[in-house]
Amino acid sequence: MNIPFNKPYFSGKEAENLTKAATSGHISGNGYFTKKCHNFFTNKYGFKKVLLTTSCTDALEMAAILLNIKDGDEVICPSYAFVSTANAFVLKGAKIVFADSEDNNPNIDASRIEELITPKTKAIVVIHYGGVACDMDKIMEIATRRNIFVVEDAAQAIDSYYKNRALGSIGHLAAFSFHETKNIISGEGGMLVINDDRFIERSEIIWEKGTNRAAFFRGEVDKYGWVDIGSSFLPSELIAAFLYAQLESIDIIQETRKSIWNYYHSKLIKLEQEGKIKLVNIPVSASNNAHLYYLLTNSKEERTSLLKFLNDNGIAAVFHYLPLHQSSYYKDKHDGRHLDNAVKFSEQLIRLPFFNDISAQQQEYIIDKIYEYYS
Ligand SMILES: *Cc1c(COP(=O)(O)O)cnc(C)c1O
Repeated sequence: MNIPFNKPYFSGKEAENLTKAATSGHISGNGYFTKKCHNFFTNKYGFKKVLLTTSCTDALEMAAILLNIKDGDEVICPSYAFVSTANAFVLKGAKIVFADSEDNNPNIDASRIEELITPKTKAIVVIHYGGVACDMDKIMEIATRRNIFVVEDAAQAIDSYYKNRALGSIGHLAAFSFHETKNIISGEGGMLVINDDRFIERSEIIWEKGTNRAAFFRGEVDKYGWVDIGSSFLPSELIAAFLYAQLESIDIIQETRKSIWNYYHSKLIKLEQEGKIKLVNIPVSASNNAHLYYLLTNSKEERTSLLKFLNDNGIAAVFHYLPLHQSSYYKDKHDGRHLDNAVKFSEQLIRLPFFNDISAQQQEYIIDKIYEYYS
């Protein structure tokens, strides 16, 4: 059997929407489908304002511009993270102060953020790993008290909640991804969420190359021009048309993913009870959006050998992030603190194949092979 790690899901309505966009005569950005997507997100999740972008990476770069990140500013970010989470702020001159993960969860350890704050700290960027919420009450409390901004990297966190509040609606800003490996996809694609009123007007200008073009098309100004810095962050209507077809199927997509997740979990829990592996840990304050399914081995050597065993049996299980504080780009800039949990997740975590049309037979085969390895 040959089981890929990921397979993009198509709702079946994408082609129809693409044709509609193409024949409408408006295929550049900010048209009919972009507005449909924007309304969907603000209505369903209570986001104050959203702007589709060409990627989550772009949304994070917009966040860095909006926060006026400049040379010498410090940004706190988990080391167990995607490159863009840190790089977006480095592009604007920030020094990244890497934080460790929790012991039993790859998310940033909120109880150890405060000791990293200095007078130069401008922002905390957090990742809801696997769509599982960080300790947002604690993070927002620290940020408010110390006058620091919070950016949620919610790339993996669509349709997920923290104490009944949608992820992406809690920080001052948030970034989502619609890359083909996420729950809702448009090939490449992303979105910036603006929850703080102070950033709303400027966000649209940065989005449209530093111009007040969006306000012009709403009739709020009688001509548009260059009013600030910005770039071309908005996606074409073709991307938005594709994305909207996915959003229309979000309930089915999520239901399917949750049943795949639950199947893995119900079958693998016995191995966890026997102390052979550890499984995804979801705190009571967090929901599960079934973005991924992972297990933790007891050592790096065991991870390497289990991964090889699964790969040799046609199962494209994969590891995930390499700790950014040890990356070749950042290791000489890091202050030398040991971030043991980030290293642990990097060395011991395995993600299992996860896509909407994985069959019960394929899942059964994967589970059997894991049991075979541990027998
Ligand atoms: C996927 C991902 C990104 C990058 O998303 P793109 O849309 O590919 O730019 C950033 N952060 C995290 C946590 C991700 O999982």
